[in-house]
Amino acid sequence: MSEIKSNIEKTLDNAEKLNGELNSFLSIEKNYALKRAEEVENSSAEEQQSLRGKAIAVKDNICTTGMQTTCGSRILGNYQPQYDATAVTKLKEAGAIIVGKTNMDEFAMGSSNENSAFGTVKNPWDTEKVPGGSSGGSAVAVASGVVRASLGSETGGSVRQPASFCGIVGLKSTYGRISRFGLVAFASSLDQIGIFGQKSKDVAEVLAVISGRDKNDSTTADVSVPDYSSELDKDISGKKLGIPRALFGEGLDDEVRDSVESAIANYEKLGAEIVDVELPHSKYSIAVYYIIATAEASSNLARFDGVRYGFRVEDTHELRKMYMKTREEGFGAEVKRRIMLGTYVLSSGYYDAYYAKAQKVRTLLKQDFSKAFEKCDAVLTPTSPTTAFKIGEKSDDPLAMYLSDIYTASANLASIPGISVPCGLSSEKMPIGLQLVGKPWSEDTLLNLASVYENEYPLKEKPQIFAE
Ligand code: GLN
Repeated sequence: MSEIKSNIEKTLDNAEKLNGELNSFLSIEKNYALKRAEEVENSSAEEQQSLRGKAIAVKDNICTTGMQTTCGSRILGNYQPQYDATAVTKLKEAGAIIVGKTNMDEFAMGSSNENSAFGTVKNPWDTEKVPGGSSGGSAVAVASGVVRASLGSETGGSVRQPASFCGIVGLKSTYGRISRFGLVAFASSLDQIGIFGQKSKDVAEVLAVISGRDKNDSTTADVSVPDYSSELDKDISGKKLGIPRALFGEGLDDEVRDSVESAIANYEKLGAEIVDVELPHSKYSIAVYYIIATAEASSNLARFDGVRYGFRVEDTHELRKMYMKTREEGFGAEVKRRIMLGTYVLSSGYYDAYYAKAQKVRTLLKQDFSKAFEKCDAVLTPTSPTTAFKIGEKSDDPLAMYLSDIYTASANLASIPGISVPCGLSSEKMPIGLQLVGKPWSEDTLLNLASVYENEYPLKEKPQIFAE
C-alpha cells in the first residue's frame, strides 16, 4: 500500500481508538481522508508538496464542505457548510489531509472544554483533568500523538492556554495574518485561526501555508509571508526578552512561577538578554476582554435564529416564539450568559460606561506593548497561571474560569502574535507552558525562540495516553 495512505489509515485508527476515552474528535472523516490520501499520492502537482500527505485535525468552528461544522453547539446541529474556510482551502491545496473535526467549547467560549454540547474533552496527561479551552479537542488530537498539527481558534487564549495544559506548542498569529473567512465569528476584532503542533516546526509549516492576504477577508494584511521553517534554528544570542515582573505575583501558582523562572535562566544560557518591561494596563485585560468579546458575540450570534442554519424547534407556529425557543434550546448556559452580558454593555445608557471605556483601555494596552517592544524582541510570561485543573473544579465559578486567560487575552486585544511552548512539568506531572508575545508580524522570531528552547530543553515525558 502507498505510504501516504498507510499513514492516514494509522492516524484514523488511532483517532478512533483514543476517542472513546479522550473525546477530542466530534467527527472522524474516514471516507474523505482515505480518498484524499489516494488523490494526493497520485498527484505530482507542484502545489501539492509542502504539506503533502500530512494529517491535520480542524476545530469544529472552521467551515469544511461535506463535513459537519457544529461549533460545539446544539444550535448548529449537523450543519454542513457550502464552502471551505480559506485556511482549509490552502491546507488542501498544499496536500494536507483533513482527518476530522475537533471538539470545543460552544462557540469557542470557555477555558476548559466543559462548555461543549457534546461532552468534555479529557487531558491525555491525566484524564480527570481538563485539556484547557476552547480549542481543547485540537490540542488533545496533537498532544495524544494522533496528528502532528491541528487548527484551533483564538479570541483570548484558546490555542495558547490548551497548548500549555497539554504540553505542546500553540501559536496565535498577528490579527490579519490568517484569513478569518470561514471561521465562525465569536468576537470579530479578536478572532484568529491558531495552530497547534507537537513541535514549532509543525506550526511553522502550517503557518507558512495558511497565512496571507485573502480577498474574502478585508482584515487580512498584504504583508509578505516569510519561510518560517528556515528561520527556526537560528542562533538567538542577543535577542532581548522583556519580563513584566509585576505580573508574576498574586494568583500565579508557585510551581508555574518556578518553572517559568528557570526557563528565563535557560534563555540566558542560550544567549538571550533579559530586560525588565512594564505592562501597567495588563491588570485590566480580563475586564476589557470580557466586555469587548461579549459585546461582539451578542451581535455575531444574532444570526442563529432557527431560519438560516441548523437546528429549529418544532411545534411553534409563531415566528417570535420560534426564534426564542430555538435559541433557548439551542444555546448552552455560557453562550446565553455572554449574549446577555454583551447586550447589556452595548445598551443605551451603559454603552459609554462599559463598551466605550473598554475600547479606550484597549488602546492603552496596545500602547503598553509598543513601549515594551522598544526595549525587547518578545515579552515572556507564563501562559496560564495554573496547570490543568480537575474537570468540574471551576465550572460553577465563571470568574475563576475567566482568570485562566489573564496572561493571554492582552495579545488578542493588542492584535499581536503569541506562542506557548512547554517549559516543564509540575510535581503532579502536568505540563507548564511559557508564553512569548511579539511585535506585529514577528511570528518568525517567536517560532525561532520557541524552537531553540524546545530543542535544548524538551519535555522528557509523554502523556499517559499517547498513540503508538
Ligand atoms: N477562554 C476565553 C473565553 O472564554 C478565550 C476563548 C477563545 O480564545 N476563543 O472567551
